[in-house]
Amino acid sequence: MIRLYSHPACLEHQPGSGHPESPARLQAVLEALDHDRFAALDRVEAPRASRRQLLRVHTPEHLARVLQAEPGEDGLRLDDDTVISPGSAEAALRAAGAVVAAVDAVMAGACARAFCAVRPPGHHATASTPMGFCLFNNVAVGAAHALREHRLKRVAIVDFDVHHGNGTQDIFERESKVLYVSSHQSPLYPGTGPASQCGVGNIVNAPLPPGTGSEDFRQIWEGLLLPRLHDFRPQLVLVSAGFDAHRLDPLADLQLETGDFAWLGERLVQLARVHASGRMVSSLEGGYHLGALAASAAAYVQSLSD
Ligand SMILES: [Zn+2]
Repeated sequence: MIRLYSHPACLEHQPGSGHPESPARLQAVLEALDHDRFAALDRVEAPRASRRQLLRVHTPEHLARVLQAEPGEDGLRLDDDTVISPGSAEAALRAAGAVVAAVDAVMAGACARAFCAVRPPGHHATASTPMGFCLFNNVAVGAAHALREHRLKRVAIVDFDVHHGNGTQDIFERESKVLYVSSHQSPLYPGTGPASQCGVGNIVNAPLPPGTGSEDFRQIWEGLLLPRLHDFRPQLVLVSAGFDAHRLDPLADLQLETGDFAWLGERLVQLARVHASGRMVSSLEGGYHLGALAASAAAYVQSLSD
């Protein structure tokens, strides 16, 4: 059984017209995962993350900045990319809450795997700074919850978004119970994630040059990243599932096809089955070509149930 976590509030975060991280993205993903094509998905409304859950990874000042902002109709600009609108706080609480609830569900055996169709995305948000379209680091909040609440010793975070998850790395680079594994284009925003950044041996970065296509992408996962994940023997697999490495994506220059996301999804399910009783929670990060995003997310979610 695969659960789909989402919430209508996630459509009410409005970074402004022309901003690539638009509500239309989530709309496109939800339409691609509709009842007709994905009748077997167990659809669940995401709860809000609690203050206690958020404070495991973010500073009180960070929470105040997001939750106590008083944006006008044009929104409050936190940096060049990151905007808070009147609906943003609720969207951000539901996005982080989705991952926490999904972790609880897979740990309880209520479902094997879950996909959180939420926004704003999370992996650029550091412990103290919203950035790069991200307000709270949704996957990091879920990982911290798994460590604290479920007393796990080994949680893997897999990040195949085309951008490096600098926020996730920042939050966990000294936490040996978390292995963070990322493939990302370099050079590209936010400029972090060279292979030399290893944390306490728990960070594995695979920067890929612009133009990298399916074959080289699969080779780096097969030859380097998946073996590191298997060696770690994760008790839970969390995934920052961004689909902006697709060749049609306007924000980056990798050349992946829709099928590559299903290919990796299958291998991650296999990883979860071998070490984690199948427990795997994925959360939507980037993906800015609406058609490619919708098709890639659908192919990925399909791979979770195969
Ligand atoms: Zn991205």
